[in-house]
Amino acid sequence: MNENEIKEIKELLSTPKNIVLVAHKNPDGDAIGSTLGMQHYLKQKGHKATTVLPNDVPEFLHWLPGVETVYKYDKQNKQSKRSLDEADIVFVLDFNAFHRVGDDMQKALEEYKGTYIMIDHHQQPDPISKYIYSDTSICSTCQMVYHFIDKMGDLNFINPEVATCLYTGIMTDTGSFRFPSTTSTTHKIIGELIDKGADNAKIHDNVFNASSYSRLQLMGAALTNLIVLPEYHTAYITLSQEELDKYNYQKGDTEGLVNYGLSMKGIYLAAIFIEDVEQGIIKISFRSKGSFSVNQFSRNHFNGGGHDNAAGGRSLISLEATVEEFLNQLKGYKNELAVSYEN
Ligand code: 5GP
Ligand code: MN
Repeated sequence: MNENEIKEIKELLSTPKNIVLVAHKNPDGDAIGSTLGMQHYLKQKGHKATTVLPNDVPEFLHWLPGVETVYKYDKQNKQSKRSLDEADIVFVLDFNAFHRVGDDMQKALEEYKGTYIMIDHHQQPDPISKYIYSDTSICSTCQMVYHFIDKMGDLNFINPEVATCLYTGIMTDTGSFRFPSTTSTTHKIIGELIDKGADNAKIHDNVFNASSYSRLQLMGAALTNLIVLPEYHTAYITLSQEELDKYNYQKGDTEGLVNYGLSMKGIYLAAIFIEDVEQGIIKISFRSKGSFSVNQFSRNHFNGGGHDNAAGGRSLISLEATVEEFLNQLKGYKNELAVSYEN
């Protein structure tokens, strides 16, 4: 986004507009934090701002301010469609390709004729938006929303609600400020957000200390299923539908499980394969340490993508066959994995 575009957007936002904020399917902390953070900011500026997400917000984020105002495209289809129809501007947040919202909503976004503004930190953005603020070096879309508000000259509009939403997305996308994408700028912004009313201890408590007993049991099953392949510096977890059912799986319960593989010394690639019988897919998450790009790996072999060190994907074959395919593909990356990271 150049200076001229910033000026144009400032001009656009200088009079009250009807604005819709959208994020990707199965929204995570960054997707919901950035849409709701933007919603609270834009409302204070006198705009009508509505968040439309493809599907549900996971339980561990239900406490976020404004969650109750979100339209879910799958369940509140009429309201969602009407909001999009009436929107002067649609902000595309935390995704950069229309297929990331899922089939039904994808069609609606493809048909939308108004002005798109994209703010996103994933690799290889599709040219779907008039204005594109894309930076893959920034840890989270929430941090980019902070920079965007700054570019608009509006940091004084960051109230406790905005601060809470942005803090949450930065925290969840950086693994609580651990990942290499966390910079001194990130920490400075986090400091600002605390000063502007984000209750940091409360936010961590809300997100990380809200597990059900059955979620911990499910984690136990996942860790029991962990397979380590030392020769590939790789560890992976599988969860079958039967196991998910046994432990009363709720949306969000498997969030973060993939990271356990990487918590072992000498492991640079971690994967989790989760069976979803209803959708007829295996949902895959990849995480890596160092130079091995899971974005590229997932794009090449598992219909997905994301970031260099965190990506998602899916497969349409069985859980067993998917794992077999993964093991087969790994063979071609043995040398790359061996030097991905220096312990
Ligand atoms: P997760 O493993 O948590 O689902 O996803 C990890 C990261 O990759 C997230 O930033 C997510 O938005 C992104 N991601 C997940 N699936 C896909 C996909 O199919 N395509 C692309 N481009 N990004 C994805
Ligand atoms: Mn993100």
